[in-house]
Amino acid sequence: MSQHEMLTWLEQNTGKTYRNFINGEWVDSSSGKTAPLYHVARKDQLLGHFPDSTEQDVNAAVEAAHEAFKTWSKLPAPDRSAILMKFADLLERDIDQLAYMLSAEQGKTLAESRGEVGRAVKETRFAAGDAFRIDGETLPSERANVWNSTIRYPIGVIAAIAPWNFPIVTPVRKIAPALAYGCTVVFKPASNTPWATIKLVELFAEAGVPKGVVNLVIGSGSRVGDPLVKHPLVKGISFTGSTKQGLAINEIAAKRLVRTQLELGGKNPAVVLGYSDLEYAAKQIVSAAFTCSGQRCTAISRVIVLKDQAEALTEALVKEIKHIKVGPAWEPGVNMGPLVNTNHLESVQEYIKIGKEEGARLLTGGEVLSEGEFASGSYMTPALFDQVTPDMRIAKEEIFGPVLSVIAVENEQEAFEVANSVAYGLAAAVFTENLSSAYRFAEQIESGMVHVNHGTASAAHMPFGGVKQSGFGAYSIGSTNKDFFTEMKVVYFQF
Ligand code: NAP
Ligand code: MG
Repeated sequence: MSQHEMLTWLEQNTGKTYRNFINGEWVDSSSGKTAPLYHVARKDQLLGHFPDSTEQDVNAAVEAAHEAFKTWSKLPAPDRSAILMKFADLLERDIDQLAYMLSAEQGKTLAESRGEVGRAVKETRFAAGDAFRIDGETLPSERANVWNSTIRYPIGVIAAIAPWNFPIVTPVRKIAPALAYGCTVVFKPASNTPWATIKLVELFAEAGVPKGVVNLVIGSGSRVGDPLVKHPLVKGISFTGSTKQGLAINEIAAKRLVRTQLELGGKNPAVVLGYSDLEYAAKQIVSAAFTCSGQRCTAISRVIVLKDQAEALTEALVKEIKHIKVGPAWEPGVNMGPLVNTNHLESVQEYIKIGKEEGARLLTGGEVLSEGEFASGSYMTPALFDQVTPDMRIAKEEIFGPVLSVIAVENEQEAFEVANSVAYGLAAAVFTENLSSAYRFAEQIESGMVHVNHGTASAAHMPFGGVKQSGFGAYSIGSTNKDFFTEMKVVYFQF
């Protein structure tokens, strides 16, 4: 894949007007209005016009999904699985095109975009397998000639709402399991990244998903997201995004006893405890911190290190950060793209300012890049602060950008306390050769996911989720999805 190929493809495929997908048809929004979307790294290149949808569109989509549920939920699970398997194959077939769209609207490098599509393929195949594992239990009876069983059935229409940082894998992570378990979906993408979603929905249709089973309504959080969450026919809300928004959605859902699956913010620590190979640890940490320009819920944003190793580790981190080449997605050798837009760049820059004011030392990076090619995107260099203390805002708040903080501590116990001192609890890493330390960390860290001796990379078949302010409800991916997408029924059978 060369620079040439992505740019040529974009020249030939941009500027179209897109629609919502409701009940198997591409339809205009009832508002009659659209909003333009521009290339993240070429601000003057129009990618397309996208619907500015309304509550009326949401209602039509939810009603279609409700109607489709009646037949989709009765389709044998192996048949639903086969459609998902087909969808996974189609994702692989169109990986280049999907990666171009994703990189253009989100900014991540082509290698990262291809990785994201690959991950979506794996998660889809796992979900397709899960369709065969919708199991219940049969337990002993209190009486003769009675079977006591539990069975599982799909809950109904799912509202799926996603953020802009993973515009392919997040929708797939919600829609594929929903379909596997027999639910139907109304999906609202983030306003920043609706483009690749269009392609995903086309592929679901091509794979044989019947009309009404997957519906797409594009528009703002307030005009589309809010009525979707409030719709009485929606039985479950799978939301990935900010903690603030997740809390608001959960309040609305709680009022009508509708269940939620919330994947929210993070402030993920890497704890380094006398580890011998600091170069390796630095590589793992830097990759986990700056992939997707740090705009990942599982990005490592705090390094907590014992005092006597702080200097050596910091040096190794600086050295590793110097290998990061910032630039547009398609440029060879680039391994960090721009931030998603100017507003977000400003918000991250504000934290650079706050960090300095709080007395942390900016060791490298943090500058806005605006010369030449950089003028057409929202670029900054990867930043590393040291002399950070746990009470500083940069040590506590989610920045969601390429900013890493080093906090030095006296001992293991203090390291764990600092690691647990934030409101979040999504992913955490520890680097140690001491088996007991590793176990203590796994046991004491308040985190949904724990990684020993590597960064915060998760697997496509393992439960994914967070605790505290990082998540609520059943973890996504993995077997845990059953608890969100299905309801239990207990059956006593006398014969
Ligand atoms: P966000 O502002 O919370 O938005 C997420 C989604 O919610 C968007 O589609 C947004 O629509 C929609 N929304 C906004 N207002 C709404 C409302 N009133 N009702 C229903 N939906 C509404 O988050 P973001 O800025 O896009 O993404 C960054 C955040 O996501 C970070 O905090 C990050 O940590 C988190 N995240 C978490 C995970 C995880 O798995 N734990 C993964 C990725 C990201 P608009 O785009 O139209 O505003
Ligand atoms: Mg937002």
